[in-house]
Amino acid sequence: MCIFCEIAKKSVPSQAVFENDTIFAFRDINPQAPVHILVIPKTHIASVDAITAENSKVVAEIFEAIPKIAANAGLANGYRVISNCGADACQSVKHLHFHILGGKQLSETMA
Ligand code: 5GP
Ligand code: ZN
Repeated sequence: MCIFCEIAKKSVPSQAVFENDTIFAFRDINPQAPVHILVIPKTHIASVDAITAENSKVVAEIFEAIPKIAANAGLANGYRVISNCGADACQSVKHLHFHILGGKQLSETMA
């Protein structure tokens, strides 16, 4: 089973910041900004490439949750949401996840 499935099931510990029936959000183990949170579906979806009409409801739910997660994390001045998909984007964990980055002025460039 993949590491983020294990984290969603809590067989691998993490610093959870939000959870409901379908979504789990937790602190990135190697933060790249003062606030670095990962938001995942509890069901395994490999990447943005694997989003379909059948499984996309959870993606909408993630984006409904993101503003609440960001507000709870104190990101009143803004934040960035990123999803790396595939080799060129350096996706390292093959379970769909959205990075929430903030807590400082982020760089103007993204790539
Ligand atoms: P990617 O490179 O796939 O877009 O992002 C994967 C992210 O997952 C990385 O930022 C990495 O630090 C984080 N990560 C990988 N393994 C773990 C883990 O076991 N626990 C937590 N909290 N984060 C992890
Ligand atoms: Zn998984």
